[in-house]
Order: sequence, then C-alpha cells, then structure tokens
Amino acid sequence: MRNPVPELLDEVLRACADDDEGELLQTIPELADEDPDRFAVALCTLDGRVHSAGDAEHRFTIQSVSKPFAYALALADRGLETVLQHVGVEPSGDAFHEISLESNGRPRNPMINVGAITTHSLIGDPSLGLAERDERVLAGLSAFAGRRLEVDDAVAASEREHASRNLALAYLVHSQGKLDGEPHDAVDGYIRQCSARVDVRDLAVMGATLAAGGRNPVTGEQVVDSWVCTQVLSVMATCGMYDAAGDWMSRVGIPAKSGVAGGVLGALPGQAGLAAFSPRLDEIGSSVRGVRAFERLSVELGLHLMHAPEVASHVLHGVVEPDRDGDGRREVQLQGTMHFAAAEVAVRELQQLPDDGAPVVLDLSRVASTNAIGRRLLTEAVERMRGDGHEVEVADPDGHLAG
Ligand code: GLN
Repeated sequence: MRNPVPELLDEVLRACADDDEGELLQTIPELADEDPDRFAVALCTLDGRVHSAGDAEHRFTIQSVSKPFAYALALADRGLETVLQHVGVEPSGDAFHEISLESNGRPRNPMINVGAITTHSLIGDPSLGLAERDERVLAGLSAFAGRRLEVDDAVAASEREHASRNLALAYLVHSQGKLDGEPHDAVDGYIRQCSARVDVRDLAVMGATLAAGGRNPVTGEQVVDSWVCTQVLSVMATCGMYDAAGDWMSRVGIPAKSGVAGGVLGALPGQAGLAAFSPRLDEIGSSVRGVRAFERLSVELGLHLMHAPEVASHVLHGVVEPDRDGDGRREVQLQGTMHFAAAEVAVRELQQLPDDGAPVVLDLSRVASTNAIGRRLLTEAVERMRGDGHEVEVADPDGHLAG
C-alpha cells in the first residue's frame, strides 16, 4: 500500500506553486541570491515519521524560525520567572523589527527582533563566554532538529554588515537594564543563531518536538520539559506571525513562526510538526507560498487548533449489566483518553448506576492514556462509591490510575 500522505503534500504543493507574488528579502544581500521558485513542504508525526514534497533537501537559513527555540532554551536554562523579567508575552501588533517595548522597557515578546535579541542573551549560564553561548544555542537547535546543524557563515557575515537596526534595538534594551551582557555580543550571537542552516524536514521535526511536549520523536531525546513547550507554543500562537498573528490564528489555527529566508514552521500540540519553504515574502516578512501551503494543510488535514474535537460521546465503551454474564457484577467499560472532559462524563456514568447492590467493575483496559485531572476524578469517584458502601473493583491492567 502506498502511503497517501506524501501525495496529499504533493497536491498542496501543486495547488500553491503558481503563486509568484512577493519579493525576496533585500536587507540581507546574501539571501537575495536564492532561487525564488524553490518550494517544499514537510510534516513530522509524533512517532517520528517525516513526510515531505518538493525541494525538501534544499537548505536555507532558519532566521526568525529560530526564535521560539531560543526562547525554549532560555526558559529551560533560566526558568520562567527570570525570562519574564526580561521579555514579555503580549502580541505587539507591530512589524518584526519595530521598537516594541513596554513602558518598563521590557520587549513585548520573544518573537520580534527586540525580544529575540534579549532572549538570546539569556541562553545558558550567565557566566558563559560568547563561543560557549554560541555552542549552547547551536547544540540546542540541533537537538530539536535531531541532527547537528551548521551555521552559514556567508549569510551571518552579510547580516552583520547590515545590523544597524538590530544593534539599535539591542542598545535600547540595554539602556533599560533588560539586556544581559553587551549589545554587540547579543546581536552577533543572535545573527549566528538566525544563520543556522535547515531544510523543511528539519523544521518539521523541530515543530514535532514542541508538539510532543519536548521529546524529539525521531531521536527520542527529551530536549526540554513539557511546561517549556506549553509556554513556547502559547507565545507562538499569539505572537509568532507578528502583526498578522490574529489573522493567522483564525484562518490557519496552528501555532507557527516564519523567517525571512522563506521558512515557516508550525506545531500542533499532540498531532504533528509542519514546515514549508519558499523564498518570496509578503509585506510582513513571511513566505507567500509557505503561508498558502499552511492555509491549505490546515483545511485538508483538519488541523485548526480551535476546531472542537469530539470527545465526550466516545468515553463509554459499554456497560455490561449484572445478568448478562451471570457473575452478578455490573461492568463499566471506559475507553480513549481520560482527560478532564472524558473523566467528567465517566464520573457521571458511575453516579447514575442503579442502586441495586450489584458489585461494580470499572474496566480501564481500553483506556489509552490519562492525565492528572483524569486520574484524580476517577480515583475520587471510586473512593466515594466505596465510601457510600458500594463494592467497586478497578480493572486497570496498564496501571493508568497508579501513574
Ligand atoms: N535575522 C533576521 C533579522 O534579524 C531575522 C528576521 C526574520 O526572520 N523575521 O532581521
């Protein structure tokens, strides 16, 4: 059987390939030499399967797509509180290179340049030298991608020659006491961070690692804790597409980040990492075809985050009445994922059982997974039923309620 997913990606590519609107970036001269017609998309599942179509092997610089990952590293290294002291989490509604500072001098969020330069300076231990911080950043990005990435020195050098604006932003944050270290060093490190070379498959794996709670689904490495991913994805959802963030969220519904070399990365929690690449940019600095590919992928694959999943109706596999198998017990069989909404339905089912004295078996053998609130609700329901004098047995071969 040929897997239909790569063909689906091919179709998306074909449907968007005739769009030649947009312009190549002019502010980093080295990027202006890129072949404007290149186009690729990729998707990485949470069990580590990467599907791709188009120029999937072509490498380009990661640029601003590095920002959520740098934010993840800073959070992992310094903790939420310290990072929040330096960089906020509010959408700026401005372009990516604007002076978007709060009244206390804190950059509004880590997805715009002023916040990303500040975030970069927070990565690693404060005592790290420049080269060591560089290495921590590159090793961190590489762990997300699942392979060792290299820096494109020519692109870095080209951007360094045109860095006045980013330097101005860094000096401004420094003057407000929010930048750790020297402005020049922060911008230099940030430029190297932006110059890491990736292809769409790398980006899809990086997105999937965020979507999987920090565990790289290809290498199995736990790169950052899952709370870090929740924080990063929230900020991507609200600030990732700059001044188009609201439009993007309502139309595409996938936390995402774009970069000026033409990369777009998306991460759908619990489902997949997605990526697209094509160099022509719209006026906010995102790939025109990349954005179109995401719009289509969201519709074709039903990936909009705000699309309500069906849960509650599938919680109960069945109730076996006491007289059906002759042992006098009533079996309540649950199935699926026991998070809040599902466990709440299960608890009500237990509450409504007839009060005829028949012992109850709560059968969890078909349950796929639980979270903390699911476990708590089910455990408390069982204890309360026992407290009320019911005989309750829990059949839990996979130990869901134990974990
Ligand atoms: N390195 C680029 C810059 O700082 C990244 C911008 C982007 O990709 N939006 O201008």
